[in-house]
Amino acid sequence: MTVTDVIIVGSGPAGVGVAALLNQTNVDYLILEKKEVGCSFLQWPVNMEMITPSFPSNAFGQIDLNSICEATSPAFSFNKEHLTGDEYAEYLEAVVDYFKIKVQTDTEVLEVTKQKGGWVLSTNQENFFCKYLIWATGEFQNPQINHIEGAEHCLHSSYIKHPGSIQGDNFVVIGGYESGVQMAFDLVQANSSVTLINPNKIDDNLTSDPSKVLSPYTHEKYIRMKASRLYSEVLGEVVAVTKEESLYQLQLKDETIIKTDKIPICATGFSLVKKPIEEFITMRKDGTPKLVEETDEFYGQENLYLSGPSVRHDNHVFCFIYKFRQRFGVIVEDILKKEKYPKEDIAAYVSKWKVHGMYLSDLSCCDDECVC
Ligand SMILES: Cc1cc2nc3c(=O)[nH]c(=O)nc-3n(C[C@H](O)[C@H](O)[C@H](O)COP(=O)(O)OP(=O)(O)OC[C@H]3O[C@@H](n4cnc5c(N)ncnc54)[C@H](O)[C@@H]3O)c2cc1C
Repeated sequence: MTVTDVIIVGSGPAGVGVAALLNQTNVDYLILEKKEVGCSFLQWPVNMEMITPSFPSNAFGQIDLNSICEATSPAFSFNKEHLTGDEYAEYLEAVVDYFKIKVQTDTEVLEVTKQKGGWVLSTNQENFFCKYLIWATGEFQNPQINHIEGAEHCLHSSYIKHPGSIQGDNFVVIGGYESGVQMAFDLVQANSSVTLINPNKIDDNLTSDPSKVLSPYTHEKYIRMKASRLYSEVLGEVVAVTKEESLYQLQLKDETIIKTDKIPICATGFSLVKKPIEEFITMRKDGTPKLVEETDEFYGQENLYLSGPSVRHDNHVFCFIYKFRQRFGVIVEDILKKEKYPKEDIAAYVSKWKVHGMYLSDLSCCDDECVC
């Protein structure tokens, strides 16, 4: 059995980013990754791009929105604002190589058990023991089609690797947030006709928080798509899908029926990959894990932390990289305190991580709304 202080499960931005901070300390850590670094990004549909723009603004104290550690910028590496999934995975790999971050690939964590003083992880390779476990398995590999009876007759949008190559008429996309609008846009670009179904008006700008409304990048596409005769929109909630021979019938909550001969495409979201640690998670009403605000430990589970887009505190949603990276420092600070690091050393790390946008403990500032 391999023994180490900290194990991080997952080598996406959440796992590699928190490891980059641990790498600056003497705490022993290892990332376990079931496939390869940036594996989720390598699975993205080919024409999907980061919606958060990159810009090499680091030198003036505004770190690139998609950076996961200091002195790096995807915009600088690729001379591009909106990286594809393959490009972002390459950025993560470059960070791992440059900073010599310890990752063991092809190692899938299958079982986690709590033991006195730590956690035992069974994998497809060997067993591991660690005092601190950081769960960074992301959401992309856990697509969701909830609350639709007959969901087996639908296809989740994340399984369509080449949306531009699908052609025909009468496509139906369920869900009008980022992935749904992107999917409908790609279909219209490929000269296919699409109906998009969403419970609310897509361009209602009720808040400036892009975790709750369409990002400006996708909104621009939405406006272009809306001008096309190939695009139509239905306000409503799909509750059931049936299939008879080659015809799909979608029933909405208000009993409207929509028919199509194309498999309905669900852009209905993702949720945390939690299988081997499910028993340790208390859920909030919104279906995300309940966490300790000061440390991002799972509620009631000392030394088991969450890093990544499923982090929520009150109504604050940390689903983008520029948001969840600010909690990397909070996790590592807690580990350093428990390892009895000198207070002045911890303070020095924290002030450096604050400067680099990797530490945010006072969440009251997240309430600010833009006024114009
Ligand atoms: C479609 C989509 C588009 C997005 N676009 C943006 C964007 O433009 N900008 C932005 O900031 N955010 C975006 N996000 C949010 C996105 O979730 C994060 O940016 C990012 O992918 C999350 O990083 P992560 O490291 O938590 O997860 P991931 O990148 O998914 O990494 C998790 C890793 O864990 C590994 N893993 C899973 N289970 C195990 C296991 N049992 N054992 C070992 N390894 C395991 C996986 O193989 C994977 O490599 C998007 C999300 C989605 C779903």
